[in-house]
Amino acid sequence: MLQSKLFYKTTKNKSADTESVSHDLLVRAGYIDQLMAGVFTFMPLGYRVLKNIENIIRKHMENIGGQELLMPVLQPKENLVKTGRWDSLDILFTVKGSGDKEYAMGPTHEEVVTPLAKKMVFSYRDLPFSVFQIQTKFRDELRAKSGILRTREFMMKDLYSFHATQADLDAYYEKSAKTYANIFKELGIGKITYRTMASGGSFSKYSDEFQTETQAGEDIIYVCKKCDIAINKEIKAENPICPKCKNADFEEKKSVEVGNIFKLGTKYSSPFDLKFTDKDANDKPVLMGCYGIGLGRLLGAIVETSHDDKGIIWPKNVAPFLVHLVSLGNPSAGSGQAKKITSFAEKLYKSLQAQSIEVLYDDRQNKTAGEKFAESDLLGIPYRIVVSEKTMMANSVEVKERSKATARLVKIKDLVKLF
Ligand SMILES: [Zn+2]
Repeated sequence: MLQSKLFYKTTKNKSADTESVSHDLLVRAGYIDQLMAGVFTFMPLGYRVLKNIENIIRKHMENIGGQELLMPVLQPKENLVKTGRWDSLDILFTVKGSGDKEYAMGPTHEEVVTPLAKKMVFSYRDLPFSVFQIQTKFRDELRAKSGILRTREFMMKDLYSFHATQADLDAYYEKSAKTYANIFKELGIGKITYRTMASGGSFSKYSDEFQTETQAGEDIIYVCKKCDIAINKEIKAENPICPKCKNADFEEKKSVEVGNIFKLGTKYSSPFDLKFTDKDANDKPVLMGCYGIGLGRLLGAIVETSHDDKGIIWPKNVAPFLVHLVSLGNPSAGSGQAKKITSFAEKLYKSLQAQSIEVLYDDRQNKTAGEKFAESDLLGIPYRIVVSEKTMMANSVEVKERSKATARLVKIKDLVKLF
C-alpha cells in the first residue's frame, strides 16, 4: 500500500475529548473515526487489524469444531417475547417496520439459533454440535465511553454449543475456556487477561468472564495471588476465598471484559421446546452453552496494553502491515540523488510484496524525515525500514523494530531473514 494513497489522516496532538489511551491513539493514528457516542467507523488501517483479529479467532473456533454461519441482525419480536427478553433487556434496540411490526436489532442470538437448531435436531445422533458467527451486534449502552471499549454497535464472535448431557456441555465449556486463553495469548495479551469467575445466573453456579487488565477498564477484578484465576466483585462479596485454591489473598485490578462464556443449560431450549430423543426413546431438553468475544474491545485492549508515549506498538500477528518502508528521498537535496533513492525504495517495496510481506510504503515527497518518523511511531507497525542516501551507499537499509529503542543497518540480501 502506498501511503500517499492511503485513506487516513493523523493528528499530532492529543484530543481533549478522548476518554482512554486507546481511544486517543486509534483516532489520532487514523485507525478509527467516531460517528457519534459509542459508534465508530473502522478506517482502512483499523479494519486490517480487526480482520487479523477475526482470522485468529476464526481459526481457534474451527479448531474446537465450530461451524461458521451468519444469522440476521433483525430478529422478530415474538421470539424475544418468548424468552422474556423483549421486556427485561434494557439495552435492547428495537425498530418498527411497516404495519407497526416490531423487531429487535440482535444484541446476541439465542432467540435465532435455538429455533434454528429445533429444525435440525431430533435425535441424540444430531448432538453435539456448535455454530458461530462474527457479526455486528447492537446494545443501547447508557454509558458508551472509553472509545471502542464500550460501544453501542460492535463486532462480536458468538458461538453456541448444543449437547445431550451435562458432562458433554461441561467438557466443551472447559475446552472453550482453554481455547480462549490460547486466543488471548496469540493476541499478545495472554499474561494480563484473566479467567474471572462470575455469577452464573439461574442455570449454573458460575460463568466465566475474560478480563484484560487495563487502567481504562470499568470493571474491578480480584486476582488470586496463589493461582492463575480471578473473581469479580459479585463473587468476592459472597465468596471471600479463591474458589480454585482456597487462598484469601487477592490483588485488586482495573480491567475490561473482552469475552465471556456461559452454560445456558435449558434456559433457551425450554421456551423454544428444543428437545431430542435419547437412546431409550425418551424426549429430553437439549443443553446449551454460549461463548462471546468482542473484537473491537480486544483491539482497544491490545492498544491499552501495548503503546508508549509516541504511539501504538502492534503485536506482529495483528498489525495492519508488518513493514513500514520509509523513503527519505528529499527532492531539495538534488533531483538525481532523490530519484535514485526513490527507485531503490520502489524496488525494495516490490520485492517485499513479491515475498508476501505486507508493506506500507511511505512514498510521500512533501514530508520531512522527522514528520515521517513521528508518524511511523504513531502508527505502530512492527518493522520500520528506512531507505536514505546513507543506507543506499552501504547497500543497506536501516531497520528499527517499533518495540525496541535502537536501529541497525541491515544488508539488503539479509533483510528477508528478519521476518
Ligand atoms: Zn487461587
